[in-house]
Amino acid sequence: MTNVGVVGAGVMGTGVAQDLAQHGHSVVLVDNDPDALDAALARIELECRMSRMLGGPQVDAEAVLASITTGTSLELLAETEVVIENITENWDLKSALYAQLDVVCKADTVFVANTSAIPITKIAALTSRPDKVMGVHFMNPVPMKAACEFIPGYHTSEQTKDVVRALLDSVGKKSIPVNDAPGFVSNRVLMLTVNEAAFLVHEGVADAKTVDEVFRSCFGHPMGPLETADLIGVDTILYSVEVLYEQFNDSKYRPCPLLKKMTDAGLHGRKSGKGFYVYQSMG
Ligand code: NAD
Repeated sequence: MTNVGVVGAGVMGTGVAQDLAQHGHSVVLVDNDPDALDAALARIELECRMSRMLGGPQVDAEAVLASITTGTSLELLAETEVVIENITENWDLKSALYAQLDVVCKADTVFVANTSAIPITKIAALTSRPDKVMGVHFMNPVPMKAACEFIPGYHTSEQTKDVVRALLDSVGKKSIPVNDAPGFVSNRVLMLTVNEAAFLVHEGVADAKTVDEVFRSCFGHPMGPLETADLIGVDTILYSVEVLYEQFNDSKYRPCPLLKKMTDAGLHGRKSGKGFYVYQSMG
């Protein structure tokens, strides 16, 4: 059992915390928004209770919840062995957080960045322990996904890789190693696809349902790109495309204005109840 800190209790942090707790780890879940923590616990309880129905294993919801401690203070992470960071895809927020984590956590605590697009080497440089910083790009929903991208930064040590690989093994996830680059492999392709799909709607070539229908019916994809955008979070898609645009200085990553308007309007997808589609509340 590892004592793992999870920072950020949104879409990804909630899934990471649930998955770790389901596999017997002790989890400290921290978010600076107390409402996010309440929502995370409610979602974990519901997902555990529904796991069997959704084709997953039988899960003891009470035991999972008992393994998770929550709070708004980073000090709660003082005794953790590994911290998995899942806060908003925003450089200013992440850079402020890593500076604080570096102070509150033990010198040998390993930091795992679950970012969509920010280079791991750039994140590691925010700390005094770049050898103990590793990137893991988890897939959503985390407890249902069998693999993740495994991204060492320039200075990541073999020991850190071993610690993180063992943790991923313990939750049954295959680590797929890729080199550090903005967006890694998955999001270099996926974010461009989703951005371009949003342009199709923005320009009136087709509505969201039709765009997704083409991908489902013609290509046999299980989900279309705009359903995927709603699952990931429209705001997270925008921030990730902005990171790619800034990192590559290449106009092919220019963000679609529709993504900006939807983000400003609070149409963030499933997590806000409305994005390209409308959702019923899970609660
Ligand atoms: P989200 O918007 O659902 O949640 C982000 C959470 O971070 C919020 O609850 C917010 O209150 C919290 N937060 C922000 N600043 C904080 C701080 N300083 N301290 C503590 N908590 C803070 O976002 P998400 O979809 O969970 O994404 C989190 C990270 O994971 C991002 O970097 C994103 O790019 C990455 N990611 C997302 C997906 C996905 O499918 N959504 C997949 C892989 C990776």
